[in-house]
Amino acid sequence: MRLILLGAPGAGKGTQAEVICERLSIPAVSTGNILREAMKNETEMGRKAKAFIDSGALVPDDVIIRIIKERLAQDDCQNGFILDGVPRTVAQAEALEQMDIDIDKVVDIEVPDDTIVKRLSGRRVCASCGASYHTIYKPSAQPDTCDRCGGRLIVRKDDEPSTILERLRVYHEQTEPLVDFYRQRGKLVVVEGQEQVADTTRLLFEKLGV
Ligand code: AMP
Repeated sequence: MRLILLGAPGAGKGTQAEVICERLSIPAVSTGNILREAMKNETEMGRKAKAFIDSGALVPDDVIIRIIKERLAQDDCQNGFILDGVPRTVAQAEALEQMDIDIDKVVDIEVPDDTIVKRLSGRRVCASCGASYHTIYKPSAQPDTCDRCGGRLIVRKDDEPSTILERLRVYHEQTEPLVDFYRQRGKLVVVEGQEQVADTTRLLFEKLGV
């Protein structure tokens, strides 16, 4: 199964990707996580990406296309994968087509903007392993501590209120056109994001038939 998860920042792509990859035993590929790891390690790519990410802008297509080409060529992606947060522009989607990567389904997780703002304000991520939590919807067992690795939970810099609004604007302008792009190709599945993670997962599996 080769899947793409579309949706606004905070729609729940990362959370659903974690569940799907366990159920289908395929890796989740998140360009956001790859870029954050590069920033943490202060690689050249990480340093270049930082200003874009911190301001809520998209990282240039050529950087993303290079990342995704390298990642999808690795052995663990040969039996399928879930793309979380990529493609985010029509140019990235076209680049995937040019790489002859046949996508089975594209799931658009739809969540209204006002809900997105509430969700992103409560999001916490593990500074060590990148696992995602929410103060209300998906709290960690111990305050500010990752259930998975014991790392410290932090607010992502790009989840600060003014940056959230910019990311939503960028989403509507540059990423939402992909909904029609994949609808025209007969690959689109729409799932309405629910308040409870498990409810969205159930709808998603029903629609994918897995
Ligand atoms: P995410 O964790 O997916 O919300 O990504 C965090 C940030 O990384 C985004 O706001 C962008 O600045 C950057 N980013 C991640 N994936 C992409 C992509 N496919 N295209 C452009 N920028 C991206």
